[in-house]
Amino acid sequence: MKLIAKTVLLAACLLLVNCGDAPAEQMLQLSGNTMGTTYTLSVVSESTVSADAISSLLESIENSMSTYRDDSELMQLNRAELNTWLEVSPALFEVISLSQEISQLSDGAFDISVGPLVNLWGFGPPIPANDLLPEAAEIDTLLPNIGYQHIRLDPQQQAVMKTRDVALDLSAVAKGYAVDRIADLLETAGIDNYLVEIGGELRTGGLNLEGNPWRIAIENPESELSARQVQRIIAVGDAAIASSGDYRNFFTLNGERYSHTIDPRTGWPVSHDLVSVTVITENAARADALATAFSVMGENAAMLLAEENMIAAYFLRDSGGQLLESYSPAFSEFLVAEDNPSQ
Ligand code: ADP
Ligand code: MG
Repeated sequence: MKLIAKTVLLAACLLLVNCGDAPAEQMLQLSGNTMGTTYTLSVVSESTVSADAISSLLESIENSMSTYRDDSELMQLNRAELNTWLEVSPALFEVISLSQEISQLSDGAFDISVGPLVNLWGFGPPIPANDLLPEAAEIDTLLPNIGYQHIRLDPQQQAVMKTRDVALDLSAVAKGYAVDRIADLLETAGIDNYLVEIGGELRTGGLNLEGNPWRIAIENPESELSARQVQRIIAVGDAAIASSGDYRNFFTLNGERYSHTIDPRTGWPVSHDLVSVTVITENAARADALATAFSVMGENAAMLLAEENMIAAYFLRDSGGQLLESYSPAFSEFLVAEDNPSQ
């Protein structure tokens, strides 16, 4: 079976590296590890930002939202008693609220209560005991406790209540949220021109080093990792871009490929011809969650929803070995014309 290589949104820092003659003091680049992946930061400004400020911000978000830290605020919520309000931090409340909104919008395709299924399929913190697929009966046992409807929110008290024994997993939205918080930190420091990226979820502000909109490449996911090809180039000013797809995280068993994106309604990893989805919105948390939602929905349903809500979305699907692209009307304005790649 064909192994589809990871699609990456080539961070514009890669393009920046090629912008050779600009004065070095105008650009700062930082990178590191967070949330089980990497982050990069490109700042075009005379002001600088401290690496410590960035890493302590990321650390505080992980302490709040990680399922890999047993003492995180999220894990405390996962252990909290049923039918009891628990006050949470503004950050956690905001991310859970946004997640609930995207669940409603996507009719449950996006659902942070998917945690037990993620673990069962071996994509979460517990290492699976063997490499066998879960039994259908095991999935059925978990399904009654999957469902965003079992999470209540009280905006006044910033409190959360579980009405069933749900276990929340914010992996599909927390990276985007962290990108937004870094962007806020930069803007507060008077930095308007930047590109922030965590694990392929991006946010751009202002202009790049050449004084143009930031340019991001959507890679052809079927190109070899050693010879990556650009599928499309997009140009963005102040925007957030997230991608989702089964190229990044999956396992293969008996020739079948199992995605880390799970359909919460069936309990099974999604399996359709959609190879990657890219969403552009005003903030990265929303783009991140929507990209995952669209991945679960599949191209037809996702395209309808994107059109109805004027969401900029770009789809690549594998039709019998042929890569086919489609995009919603709102996405067109970001595409750089093919006959003018220097635009
Ligand atoms: P992608 O970039 O492919 O969307 P993300 O890292 O944003 O990947 O999200 C995938 C992670 O989200 C999974 O590893 C899992 O923890 C969680 N997840 C899987 N399926 C869903 C779903 N239907 N709704 C919300 N979260 C999900
Ligand atoms: Mg996501």
